[in-house]
Amino acid sequence: MPAVRTTPVAAVDSAGLLAELRLAGNNPGALYGADVEAPGAGHFSSENPAGGNVLAEIGRASIYDYERVIESAVQAAARLGALPAPARGELVRRIAVRLREQKPLLAMLVSIEVGKIRSEGAGEIQEMIDIADFAVGLARQFGGRTLASERPSHRLFEQWHPLGVVGVITAFNFPAAVWAWNAFIALVCGNAVVWKPSPKAPLVALAVHRIVAAEAAAAGMPGVFGLLLSDEALLGQRMAGDTRIALLSFTGSSAVGKTVAQSVAARMGRSLLECSGNNAVIVAPDADLELVAPAVLFGAVGTAGQRCTSTRRLIVHETLYEPLLARLARAYARVRIGDPLDAATLLGPLIDAHARDLFRAAIAEVCAAGGEIVFGGRHLDGPGYFVQPTLVRAHADWPVVRRETFAPILYAMSYRDTEEAIALNNAVEQGLSSSIFTRDIATAEAFLSARGSDCGIANVNCGTSGAEIGAAFGGEKATGGGREAGSDAWKSYMRRQAVTINWGRELPLAQGVHFSLDD
Ligand code: NAD
Repeated sequence: MPAVRTTPVAAVDSAGLLAELRLAGNNPGALYGADVEAPGAGHFSSENPAGGNVLAEIGRASIYDYERVIESAVQAAARLGALPAPARGELVRRIAVRLREQKPLLAMLVSIEVGKIRSEGAGEIQEMIDIADFAVGLARQFGGRTLASERPSHRLFEQWHPLGVVGVITAFNFPAAVWAWNAFIALVCGNAVVWKPSPKAPLVALAVHRIVAAEAAAAGMPGVFGLLLSDEALLGQRMAGDTRIALLSFTGSSAVGKTVAQSVAARMGRSLLECSGNNAVIVAPDADLELVAPAVLFGAVGTAGQRCTSTRRLIVHETLYEPLLARLARAYARVRIGDPLDAATLLGPLIDAHARDLFRAAIAEVCAAGGEIVFGGRHLDGPGYFVQPTLVRAHADWPVVRRETFAPILYAMSYRDTEEAIALNNAVEQGLSSSIFTRDIATAEAFLSARGSDCGIANVNCGTSGAEIGAAFGGEKATGGGREAGSDAWKSYMRRQAVTINWGRELPLAQGVHFSLDD
């Protein structure tokens, strides 16, 4: 097996970066959320996954902090809902200006704290800016339908109101963008937002929070953004059970998402779930391998396989199976692993030791099942949590293939006809992203038809990973059914009200019902 080149991890001047982002707190060594001035619940660490070193100690929010943040959000929501939507959009416009100014620093912080390579760190912040721009336009476009009333001199229409407080629990792998998808849309809809970020990326959350909270205060809207930093499940659980939180948007694993959804449902609240994926690329016999190879490389190896949309399964027509695997193995051998801040690096670290252990466990399971590792399969010694990009000949029914391992492992399988390929695509619990490579219109349309891919995202001649913000994003089955970002996803953050206005002098009833004392 050819050696995979590695680049050494440069010493990171995290202290300088944190100071530039005004993250240095009064208490040396400890950083607190802007809403958490005197945490009484101890500290937890933010770690650099490329070096394994501690970046900062973070003040853990207590139950008292929780109460203060939620109450402040309730009050802010009442004030915010009374403002015209375009005025709320103006705050998001100002935030987008600040994000553009701070993009290089924030992108670097994403790379340092979660290990994304530079280009992907920058992409993460760009995605925040994109959704902010979208939200600004949206703030002038909320509209309800006017419908034909069956009664004379009646007007029937629908209108949309804010929900109140929206809670947002986020995963580590999109430490800023996923919050922005929720928060900017929720805000222009008139809601206050309380964020509980992943304990694996508290610094990014803190940096973003400081920017947006300062802009909100300057715009006369203090308290519309709340932040709760904690490494314990307690605060997230409390959010799920809290009736003051009208909508809880959860992004994370299906296992945790399920418990969150059950708690929210028990109080008849609303949840928006963006959970695990197990995404496949189908390669039809007429596929253009010049497109397939780079799309699969980005989908499976990009973000170290730590995207919800990462390509995990490769379903290849039997005529292309061997040539494609050979081509991918050659490409994998050229992937430079190492320092995410080095411009030549394509594969940064996994997030932590636990993620590396899950990678090793999956490889052990593949070997025990008699699987052949075409490339990779090993973790790298030394500081940080680096693993090789890994390509495996696999069987669709192995449990390891059917579950999501958040690492750059790609399971390759072959198929004979389109029906079989679509069945394989759909044969997992998750239903997030899917893609097919073909020039044949009938094959593409079969994949896109109601009997085709069962996923929330279905692409043709591009990979599973790297969605734009314009369409509604989300998946089916164990992925949770939520939709966020563009299109009409804003409707999740508002309540719909049906209104009938009678401007006549009679009181006709619907469906021709007569109910009168005079007859
Ligand atoms: P995770 O499920 O471990 O944690 C997600 C969040 O839930 C964190 O903020 C965590 O602190 C919090 N949490 C943990 N226990 C909780 C509880 N009992 N109640 C409430 N909150 C709790 O996920 P992760 O490892 O951070 O992220 C990876 C997972 O997220 C993958 O499965 C990935 O597919 C998924 N993900 C999905 C999307 C999507 O849009 N579908 C996007 C990004 C990540």
